[in-house]
Amino acid sequence: MRTLRLELDPWNPDPVILGEAAGVIRHGGLVAFPTETVYGLGANALDPEAVKKIYAAKGRPSDNPLILHLSRPEQAEPLVHADERAQRLMTAFWPGPLTLVLKAKDTVPSVTRGGLETAALRMPDHPVASALIEAAGCPVAAPSANASGRPSPTDAQTVWEDLQGRVDMILDSGPVRVGIESTVVDVSAERPLLLRPGGMSREALEGFLGVPLGVPDGQSKRRSPGTRYRHYAPVISVKVWVPGTPLALEGEAPGDWAFMGLSEPPAHFGRALRFTSVENYARGLFAGFRALETAWRGIVVEWPPEKGMGLGLRDRICRAASAGKLEGQ
Ligand code: AMP
Ligand code: MG
Repeated sequence: MRTLRLELDPWNPDPVILGEAAGVIRHGGLVAFPTETVYGLGANALDPEAVKKIYAAKGRPSDNPLILHLSRPEQAEPLVHADERAQRLMTAFWPGPLTLVLKAKDTVPSVTRGGLETAALRMPDHPVASALIEAAGCPVAAPSANASGRPSPTDAQTVWEDLQGRVDMILDSGPVRVGIESTVVDVSAERPLLLRPGGMSREALEGFLGVPLGVPDGQSKRRSPGTRYRHYAPVISVKVWVPGTPLALEGEAPGDWAFMGLSEPPAHFGRALRFTSVENYARGLFAGFRALETAWRGIVVEWPPEKGMGLGLRDRICRAASAGKLEGQ
């Protein structure tokens, strides 16, 4: 398949290009597009054949459900049972990096929700994403637009490297703003659960809900299947360094390794990527992994503070560092 790559000004997207991209989605094709979190790989969420193409293009396990992306909160109504609390969350946090898991209606094909009884919905805060979904006229199922298991793409070039020849179109609107995926909260039952920390802070959600978010225990059916899989990992080793503790590189020379983090590096590394805030660290994490993996033996990543985006960043770092220990795919 020939992949068309088109540039689109995020603040003034060309309606002709948007119309073409929407047509591809309406006709069952795949379009990679920018959101504020990471680039997504979109298809008509209500068309099972189109959704199967997403799993095939990414090499994604078919029991890992997809998030349905909307351009307006009202579009949730035919898809899920949203109680008053869910509606208040939508009003307060959409558009934005919050995904809500709710009891699905029969309109959502089983393949889109990985065979689960729930469906995950989000309204992205990116002008190209909203305009594309609106023009397509259907909810757009979109996981991150990377080959499964690899770090998520925060720019179109990365999507191109992973998926060219496997998707119909890539919309290039430059680098994303947030850099890690959305926060996934299950509000399908009384107790809200944090299934995946991400771009929306836990503190903001708990402040709004007035209760702490639970976390799924090992037995729970309410969990995020995607979190079982190897994820976000560069091809070289990743080691976590907690500031204030000695660096343990097990005989490796720091000069052969790279460093990413906020603090003064604890040794003289071959390369150091320093970020001025947790937000910038999150924005640069995946791109950093990909840039450094071609040149160094490994990457030492600093363990960030837990507050705000730090929790989501910790989750991505943990998965990248323990990649080999998680279930394979
Ligand atoms: P990605 O699209 O790659 O950012 O991954 C989406 C995440 O949302 C994965 O971890 C999925 O397992 C999770 N997810 C999607 N739908 C559901 C659902 N119905 N219930 C629980 N988790 C879900
Ligand atoms: Mg992903």
